[in-house]
Amino acid sequence: MTKKINVFKFGGASVKDADAVRNVNKILTLFPENKIAIVVSAMGKSTNALEKIYNAQQKKDASLFLNLTDELLHFHKKILNELISDKTHPVFKDFHFLSEELKSSFSLTGSSAECYSHIVSFGELLSTKIINAFLQEQGFLSLWKDARKIIRSKENFKDSDVDWTKTEEFFKEYFLPDFEQYDILVTQGFIGHNSEGKTTTLGREGSDFTAGIIAYCCNAEDVTIWKDVPGMLNADPKWFKNTVKLDEISFKEAIELSYYGASVIHPKTLKPLRNKNIPLRVKSFLKPNDSGTLIWKNTKYDHLIPSYIFKMNQVLFSITPKDFSFVQEEKLSDIFSRIHQSGYKINIMQNSALNFSFLMDEDKTDIDELISLLQDEYIVKYNENLELITIRHYNDQIINELTNGKEIFLKQTTRETARIVCR
Ligand code: ASP
Ligand code: MG
Repeated sequence: MTKKINVFKFGGASVKDADAVRNVNKILTLFPENKIAIVVSAMGKSTNALEKIYNAQQKKDASLFLNLTDELLHFHKKILNELISDKTHPVFKDFHFLSEELKSSFSLTGSSAECYSHIVSFGELLSTKIINAFLQEQGFLSLWKDARKIIRSKENFKDSDVDWTKTEEFFKEYFLPDFEQYDILVTQGFIGHNSEGKTTTLGREGSDFTAGIIAYCCNAEDVTIWKDVPGMLNADPKWFKNTVKLDEISFKEAIELSYYGASVIHPKTLKPLRNKNIPLRVKSFLKPNDSGTLIWKNTKYDHLIPSYIFKMNQVLFSITPKDFSFVQEEKLSDIFSRIHQSGYKINIMQNSALNFSFLMDEDKTDIDELISLLQDEYIVKYNENLELITIRHYNDQIINELTNGKEIFLKQTTRETARIVCR
């Protein structure tokens, strides 16, 4: 294969119904000469629906399981019927087969994480079957590929890490050669397999990561994530009125932004791309000819525009050793190991002589459990309903405007970044 491959990732919103899939086709017609690996998410909110199906399976609620499954399959069947006119197309058999397999997953045994990954994988399996069939009908030389034969996970069923050596091997064996005959290979984001051949998942929103893995394995020319926004913005339009598009930023800056919580790109996506210097584009699927955002090695433009990241519903814990010992290395290591074992994630932290403060997402934290983990050695206090504001490339005026009239609980600044916990 001499031609470079482009990797396109289409997320749930870009394939949410039949019209959206037609739009994917339209985008692809803009690249008639290219070899494209397409990574697709589940349609619309299907993964959320499948998580409910999984919950019903775990609770052994057969009627709820069947109702929810019927609803999900009906949603896909409708899109399938709308898009594919040739009713003898093999996709109808595939659809039937996947439907039966999903229904029979009610009786799955195995750990909850194993059941989870098996069940939620159907979102991506269904979406890619439908989209590939549609592209074939539209005349593309397109082939459906099973990501579970490529992406090899390490131990975990859920949020699993990738075994890169094995994955590259499988990729070269099972994926790459098909580009000799086909122009487009359609595969699933988010899912993989473990050493026993069982289905695994890479964490919610993990399809971006899949696109990064595939691009890494084939030394892609570039990756494009097609989104419902014009590119990477300097703030979430949900919280901020006057957003500005970032035309070009470096990998480093993009990694910083996603670390602080900018939700445009799954954080794990950037590392493999950076390691091979593969440019990442974020573009609008509604305006595919617009330039979008380019993320690459160039750091020249990183400082031009301040970026704002808001995290709402935060809870700030403040703990003090009961024996009045200083919060130094030994205490810190004890505190971290307790928190690490509990699996909770700290968003920001700070210490003084007798106090250690840390902030967490309220909806992901069981406050009582955390207190009980700490209270034998520490006095624990906490404040709820806080927000964490992160500003990259801030200035004093920006900070003043954003915190005007608010009570500040904690504030940290470096040369590039200001972080403020307030209410
Ligand atoms: N379908 C999965 C999710 O909704 C993965 C993804 O969309 O990236 O989390
Ligand atoms: Mg998604």
